[in-house]
This record gives sequence, structure tokens and C-alpha cells, in this order.
Amino acid sequence: MRHSGRLSRTSAVFSVAILAVISAAASATAQQHHPQVPKSLRLYVFDCGVIKGLDPALFNFKKEDLAETELAVPCYLIVDPKGTLMWDVGAIPDTAFKDDGAAVTQGYFYSTRTLKSQLAELGYAPSDITYLGLSHYHGDHVANSNEFAGSTWLVRPVERDAMFADKPPALSDPKNYDQLKNSKTILLTTDEYDVFGDGKVIIKFAPGHTPGHQVVILKLAKTGKVMLAGDLYHYPEERKLNRIPSFEFSKEESLASRAMIEDYCKKTKTQLWIEHDYAANAKLKKSPKFYD
Ligand SMILES: [Zn+2]
Repeated sequence: MRHSGRLSRTSAVFSVAILAVISAAASATAQQHHPQVPKSLRLYVFDCGVIKGLDPALFNFKKEDLAETELAVPCYLIVDPKGTLMWDVGAIPDTAFKDDGAAVTQGYFYSTRTLKSQLAELGYAPSDITYLGLSHYHGDHVANSNEFAGSTWLVRPVERDAMFADKPPALSDPKNYDQLKNSKTILLTTDEYDVFGDGKVIIKFAPGHTPGHQVVILKLAKTGKVMLAGDLYHYPEERKLNRIPSFEFSKEESLASRAMIEDYCKKTKTQLWIEHDYAANAKLKKSPKFYD
């Protein structure tokens, strides 16, 4: 017994040594493929699936009011000369995909690709990402949060408090983001927060859908100013008719945020991108192509 115990201890030490060699080799490879830092801001749009089969009544619509009932689920990688920001991280965790790479359905969510594979195509691993920003805590925006627990999390205190309250927030699965609790975190307490300090990427408070809902504005050299508007709207008809979903944290705050954001976009000539807008998303360039 003692003999076999010593043997397994020896082999355990040996395995650790092997693992260390493998992981050193892996990180050397990752470094070799590390993408070059661009000279100006870039936006990559990833395909993180779709939401199918939701009842339009949830959004105070009849089916015939909507040109398209499916919702797109994009994830975004923002690459600034000073670092990187992941904005919204999907509806289905990468860990739900099997090795055969088959598409995954979870309730209303459907996805054909992992987020990590799309990052890897550009030469990034989640551990390379400087900042994580979530428009809000709903399940279709936070599924891969734990992959970015090593990044610095940019969050409103009211949103973070709701996420880690004793009673978990509605429409989310805390298991998918619980590791953020120990992440390096910057609590955003100003209306606008300049992520990289170069004025090119601004996170702006737009509460109502959830207590700490936020949007991000990108000042792209060729494309111009683009706002990734989180769930300020879901359908383009919502914006046209100013219809409010039935499941807002605060309908009054949502209405006020919409009025403020519309005014902001008009004054600053910013294009508002509704993240879930299926038809608009279908027309966007997808990674590895990018907006700059
Ligand atoms: Zn959403």
C-alpha cells in the first residue's frame, strides 16, 4: 500500500510537471498568434445566436405588428489601441456545446457557434480581454460572463447589487456569471465613463430595462459614431411606436432613458444600433470583418 501510495504521488508530481510544460507551450503559441494592436478603434460583431418563439405580447405587440419576431443575439469585441472590451457575451454558454460542435438550443435560445471560437479566429483568448461590459444582467447577454472573470468588469453598483442579491434577478441564471463576484471591478458611478481614457469608447447609463442598464458609444474613424444600445429597444417597431416591453424593471425610467438617448443621438449624430434587431443585424459585417 505504502509503495503504491508513493508511486501515485510520484506520478502526480510528474503530471503537474507535464501540465506546466504544456501550458507554457500553449501560452507561447497564444503569444505568437496574438493579434497586432490596431492604430485606430475597431468593432467586431460576433454571432451569438438567435431568440426564437417569444410571444410578441411580452413586448406589448401583436404578431402582425412586427416585421420579424426573431431576435438576433450578437456579441461584440471592441479593440482600442489601449486595450480590448467585450460587450455582451451571449445567451448560451460555450460549455453547453459538445465536442461535435452541433448547434445548441436552450429554451428560446439557439446558437451554432461558441464565442471562444470566434475570439480565437482573431487570435484572442478570453484571458487576453482587458474589460468586460454587459448592457444588463438578462440571460441572453451574460451567458459567457464566467469566461471573462479575469478581465476588469465595468458595472453600475445597482446592477451588481441586483445580480448578487439573495433573491436572484428575474430572467437570468446567476450560475453563468457567479465568478464575476471576485473579478477586478470598476463601479461606474458617473453618467458617462470613458473606458480607455482616449474618448473613443464611452459607456453611458440608460436605466429602466434593468436598474443599471447601460449602452456603449464608439467613435469609429470611418464608420462614425455608433451606439450599441443594449435592450433600450428590442424590435425596430418599439422605437418607432415607443412601445415599452411588459417586463421592465421601471417603465418610467425606460421612457426617460429612451428620450435622453434619442436626444443624445440626434445632437451627436450617433447611429443607434438595436442589438436584437434581426434584419439590421443580418446586414452587419461579421467578424473577422470589422468596423473601423
Ligand atoms: Zn436581450
